[in-house]
Amino acid sequence: MSATILDGKAFAAKVRAKVADHVARLKEAHGITPGLAVVLVGEDPASQVYVKSKGKMTVEVGMNSYEHRLGADISEGDLLALISNLNTDSSVHGILVQLPLPSHLNEGIVINAIDPAKDVDGFHISNVGLLGTGQKSMVPCTPLGCLMMLRDHHGSLSGLDAVIIGRSNIVGKPMAQLLLGESCTVTVAHSRTKDLPQVVRRADVVVAAVGRPEMVPGDWIKAGATVIDVGINRIDAPEKGEGKTRLVGDCHFDSCAAVAGAITPVPGGVGPMTIACLLANTVTACCRANGADEPEGLTV
Ligand code: NAP
Repeated sequence: MSATILDGKAFAAKVRAKVADHVARLKEAHGITPGLAVVLVGEDPASQVYVKSKGKMTVEVGMNSYEHRLGADISEGDLLALISNLNTDSSVHGILVQLPLPSHLNEGIVINAIDPAKDVDGFHISNVGLLGTGQKSMVPCTPLGCLMMLRDHHGSLSGLDAVIIGRSNIVGKPMAQLLLGESCTVTVAHSRTKDLPQVVRRADVVVAAVGRPEMVPGDWIKAGATVIDVGINRIDAPEKGEGKTRLVGDCHFDSCAAVAGAITPVPGGVGPMTIACLLANTVTACCRANGADEPEGLTV
């Protein structure tokens, strides 16, 4: 293996420390404690785990955490009423509605009901538009985390060829906007892309956000390229015992690491950066709401 391992766990810890430092300064200089409200509808086990861990880390960096756990049968009107209250609550600086929502609730309507200034997931149509036009916005957490790691590793990304595999609204598309903003030459590939291996082979930076275990083999990677593996896929691991599973990314780690210049592992790569960036977005939102200086390096 020749690649540098980009350690997302360690990087995320540094981001959280920076957030905690800024939270302490906000309290001292302005008497403000940033607050993050997380809304969970229903009992999806994975979502419950995410929400618990978000709440714990929010408190650890010194911010207030407000959790709203709602029954799966809540009406859209009642959910919108809660969001409206959170929008006007001055102790709440960030609002996150955990997705997916039960099928009777319209995700677009719910997300677009959040005040864009408090939309710490960066999914509101106004933030999507601001990012797309290169203006100050709330930036979706996972691509923001990828960008922080890429900036840290490369310094300048200007002129690099970047290939993003996946065009979802939460990862692929905002990642493309961020890398355009860094003056990369950006290609967004997807399930209809012709000759994907050849497209990926020209990339200096590959961001894989597909959701297919180990789909990208090492012989698609240009020697020395940087590989950011966003995928989180659980697969059977009979070698660990009957019924056991393990997490893998969208890239085949060993073969990619043999040719790449740098690569994020799964787990321990992009994953930990996502929650760290949620906290970063909350402190950024709080600073903007109160006219306070924004921390350096926690957003674009
Ligand atoms: P998604 O909405 O399902 O989008 C997947 C994208 O991959 C689509 O654009 C799809 O193309 C493309 N795709 C599917 N099969 C392909 C193929 N054979 N060749 C090329 N492209 C293909 O997924 P997502 O929400 O972006 O998530 C992607 C992965 O990232 C998942 O494993 C997810 O768990 C993970 N994730 C991780 C984090 C984190 O915190 N680390 C956060 C979010 C997501 P079409 O558009 O043509 O269908």
